[in-house]
Amino acid sequence: MLFTKTFIPTLREVPADALIVSHRLMFRAGMLRKLANGLFAYLPLGLRSFRKVEAIVREEMDATGALEIKPTVVVPGELWKESGRWETMGDAMLRVKNRLGGEFVLSPTAEEAVTSLVRDALASYRQLPLTLYQINTKYRDEIRPRYGVMRGREFVMKDAYSYHTDEASLDNTYQAMGAAYRRIFKRCGLSVIPVRADSGAMGGSDSEEFMVESVIGDNTLILCRNCAYAANVEKASCKPELVSGGTAAVPALEPIATPAVKTIEQLCGFFKTDARRFIKTLIYRARNVALDLAQVPGGAGFVKRKSSPEAPEVYPEAFFAVAIRGDLEVNEVKLAAALKASEVSLAEDTEVVRLTGAPVGFAGPVGLKNLPLVADLTVPAIQDGISGALAADTHYVHVVYGRDFVPWLNVDLRTVVSGDRCGLCGGELYEKKGNELGHIFKLGHKYTRSMQVNYLDENGQTHIPLMGTYGIGIDRTLASVIEEHHDDEGIIWPMTVAPYQVIIIPITYAGEVKALADSLAANLEQSRIDVLLDDRHERPGVKFKDADLMGIPYRVVVGEKNLARDTPVVEVKRRGEASVRLLEVSKAEAELIRLVYRELG
Ligand code: ATP
Ligand code: MG
Repeated sequence: MLFTKTFIPTLREVPADALIVSHRLMFRAGMLRKLANGLFAYLPLGLRSFRKVEAIVREEMDATGALEIKPTVVVPGELWKESGRWETMGDAMLRVKNRLGGEFVLSPTAEEAVTSLVRDALASYRQLPLTLYQINTKYRDEIRPRYGVMRGREFVMKDAYSYHTDEASLDNTYQAMGAAYRRIFKRCGLSVIPVRADSGAMGGSDSEEFMVESVIGDNTLILCRNCAYAANVEKASCKPELVSGGTAAVPALEPIATPAVKTIEQLCGFFKTDARRFIKTLIYRARNVALDLAQVPGGAGFVKRKSSPEAPEVYPEAFFAVAIRGDLEVNEVKLAAALKASEVSLAEDTEVVRLTGAPVGFAGPVGLKNLPLVADLTVPAIQDGISGALAADTHYVHVVYGRDFVPWLNVDLRTVVSGDRCGLCGGELYEKKGNELGHIFKLGHKYTRSMQVNYLDENGQTHIPLMGTYGIGIDRTLASVIEEHHDDEGIIWPMTVAPYQVIIIPITYAGEVKALADSLAANLEQSRIDVLLDDRHERPGVKFKDADLMGIPYRVVVGEKNLARDTPVVEVKRRGEASVRLLEVSKAEAELIRLVYRELG
């Protein structure tokens, strides 16, 4: 390909809104332009790398036996009402009406669309297991699109969905997908950290995320210094520790006047103890709670409702008191998972006052009436606790779990932090920031049940298939390659996803130099190597700068002086390496083919 025949508008200056390297370099190298906030157009150079990432993903998916399909991006809202997500997806899902008033969705993901296709065609167990995938446009009305294509509003995702008769079969595919993901990221030159992930809101069991370390990462990863434990903080658990306090009988519960003493810090000062003795009690609002609270102490006041005739009955809103050791933070993702809620958030002060009958700052686990009580696993370990007394300016001392209060649920809710101990080996846990590139998880019956998917087993009995879902963001993967492979001059592409693998730079594109540059390009292209020939009438310095910026792995410089030698040579340099090699013209082609193919693995 001749440079003058393509469209690569490189830039020297950096766009003001480009905060991260990949965004800056994709702009400057002429790969990408912005149409609007969160909406990006790939130009020819960018699209070449994009297609290569896509091709790697497609090859690895096909190798697992998954079958590619192409559903539409616009799908009927009806399907989302069936699954119940019409209500729970919130504003991230863009809804549109057609001229007849029909409601549609711009797919943010496609569990519903693919499951409806499978439902229509599935009859017998003989058709299972079945894995379908697409590499297709998604739209999410992200609140804060940023960092270029890392978090856009429109992006391309490879999403696969699998259907099974039993857990073992689901697990097989889940493992195969995990292995394919590891190969995909390796082939793209990415170092990923697979971590255990939350699967609560989606209602499944196993779940794994593929993360790249990144200072701008939205995810906190918890890793063990001693063993292989790695988890998203949303899921991470740690070794429980007992609070010391002896086993001597604890005196009876006793109210203490604590005027104007509210925060944990103030309480520590007042009681002259540390925060670990306090039972901090927070009031949470939960949405779309898929539990039955009728028999739960404090739960009778909430009302269940169906969002549509097909949707399951849920509590659109319910409140909970959540108790945790005073020095710890509640992990809201764990809490939402425990409550089977679509989201949880701290209740407003007015709700706290209404539900606890006390001013903010005096909630406690003893004597709650209008709220189900959920306690973190650290709470039973507090042997002689202090808590709010549900009355103004009053706290209880000598609070004992089981004696003075019994929670409805006792589950792991704490946010694990650096320094906590690993639940597997006792080693020290530490944190890293990460960006999620891919996610696999087992969904169980969540969608197949609500969308009424059935098949007949060998005895003619009807069953609901199990399901798994597996996604990779193509754009984000591409941007992450640049984050991992660049220097001050520009991108340094891994060969596998480089837009061009060789750039030929003639010092002046004329005469003998032109003849050799043209024939070298043509011959390399014959060997299926992607070649860009910089035929522009620019100074060599300008061409070198652009070649470095675009990050093309091998740069071949063809100059008159080198061709006039007794043994004519060309200069070859690997992007990212300092040394320049001279290759005899007669051997250059074969050597370049060898070098490129060696890196393709
Ligand atoms: P995040 O937490 O980063 O928003 P997610 O949990 O919403 O991601 P999934 O629903 O699991 O992501 O989607 C699968 C993959 O799609 C992600 O791993 C990511 O690579 C990609 N992806 C998700 N949202 C975006 C986005 N706004 N822009 C680009 N890629 C995205
Ligand atoms: Mg998201």
